[in-house]
Amino acid sequence: MTDTNPRTYKAYTSYNFKEIEQAACLSEKDIEAVEVVGQVLPFKTNNYATDELIDWENASTDPMFSLHFPRKDMISNHDYETVKMFLRRYQETNDPADKKKLSDAVEAVRLSLNPDPSGQSHNVPVFEGTALNGLQHKYRETVLLFPNQGQTCYAYCSFCFRWPQFSKISSMTDSKFAIKEDYETYMDYIKSKPDVTDVLLTGGDPMTMKTPVLSKYIDRLLEEDMKQIKTIRIGTKALAHWPYRFTTDSDADSMIALFEKVVAADKHLAVMANFNHPKEMETKAVREAIHRILCTNAQIRTQSPVLNHINNDPALWAKMWRKQTDFGCIPYYMFVARDTGAKHYFELPLERAQQVFREAYQQVSGICRTVRGPIMSDHAGKIQILGTSDVYGKKIFVLRFIQGRNPDWVAKPFFAEYNPDATWFDQLKPAFEEKEFFFESEIEDYLNP
Ligand SMILES: *Cc1c(COP(=O)(O)O)cnc(C)c1O
Ligand code: SF4
Repeated sequence: MTDTNPRTYKAYTSYNFKEIEQAACLSEKDIEAVEVVGQVLPFKTNNYATDELIDWENASTDPMFSLHFPRKDMISNHDYETVKMFLRRYQETNDPADKKKLSDAVEAVRLSLNPDPSGQSHNVPVFEGTALNGLQHKYRETVLLFPNQGQTCYAYCSFCFRWPQFSKISSMTDSKFAIKEDYETYMDYIKSKPDVTDVLLTGGDPMTMKTPVLSKYIDRLLEEDMKQIKTIRIGTKALAHWPYRFTTDSDADSMIALFEKVVAADKHLAVMANFNHPKEMETKAVREAIHRILCTNAQIRTQSPVLNHINNDPALWAKMWRKQTDFGCIPYYMFVARDTGAKHYFELPLERAQQVFREAYQQVSGICRTVRGPIMSDHAGKIQILGTSDVYGKKIFVLRFIQGRNPDWVAKPFFAEYNPDATWFDQLKPAFEEKEFFFESEIEDYLNP
């Protein structure tokens, strides 16, 4: 059933993107932006995106182009001009001193882009004296593992909140999450936490690992002493970035066999697939890849942030969720973009994010309404904006936790003052003149135990 003509992966970065045939049609401005902004934010795309996803004739406004390529407006005008000046100078002189000035300027801009949003480094546990830098444990049931060899992606999303995983920030040596210690230490940690039932392999993109490498991590979780683990999730964008991973790549068949092995071991295997736009659901390659995964009895659950310039449109979301359920996937989360990297380009007021969610949700049948959102992954937990309401003439936001550092916080509605400009939870104040939100007195204990 699969394509008989396997496609060979080819990556494009700031260095070789002019080799993309279609790039000849880009404007001067768009080309310059790729060079300049590409110094600051990670940029990588590939021949699937350039051949099948991007609408080159409309590149200046195409959402697929904006997802894959840096644009001028993704950093401030001031930062843009600064980086451009140092870049041009270095290109002229080729002098190592100018190279250093360029990289210092780039580093300063990176540091100003909030590289550790929502304190993810707080989620790294210390176990028997060692900080487990390749693991995050925030919610009782679920640990995130960051396999060292999976800390890259088939392409980089311009909105990525984990962009320091791919960009060196020399003054932030611990900004990368990756398993570098002995994997057994991680297993010992999990065994010391009997409530942990879910392991989520993430990155980067774990599907960039060759099957034997990923197997090493997964096989261990199937062993008898790990029977507390019921669910293995793999967070990936490979279905949208490189679906051939599951169909015609040389180790696609062995990956499918690995999935079958996990299911045969009575684990729930969930591919947590990132899709941002219905266009990513439309190719023959992605349909084949989804079909092959579902044939293993793994599930595919889908998630995406709601992003200005990409998917700020309820009809688009309704279409995307419908296509996903048509193909057998389960819509899971709609996120609010975190305050990092190119956030200003992508951000939407919380009120708008909820409107997009509500109007999309209203257009689909109950089968698609497995999706929850919009959700902010904040220090305290995953906070859902349920909507606005009027209480005795006062407009408020109604919120609740979908996940909390303390499980007792989950699923209790709470209220914030209405704020039409707020784009993140830290800009909200408790409603009704309360001094603090109900969980705030406890949060310090969780962040600084
Ligand atoms: C989202 C998330 C999880 C998983 O939460 P679920 O609601 O079970 O999907 C686990 N850990 C972290 C840090 C997360 O952000
Ligand atoms: S696939 Fe995920 S980790 Fe990779 S660039 Fe995109 S958002 Fe970031």
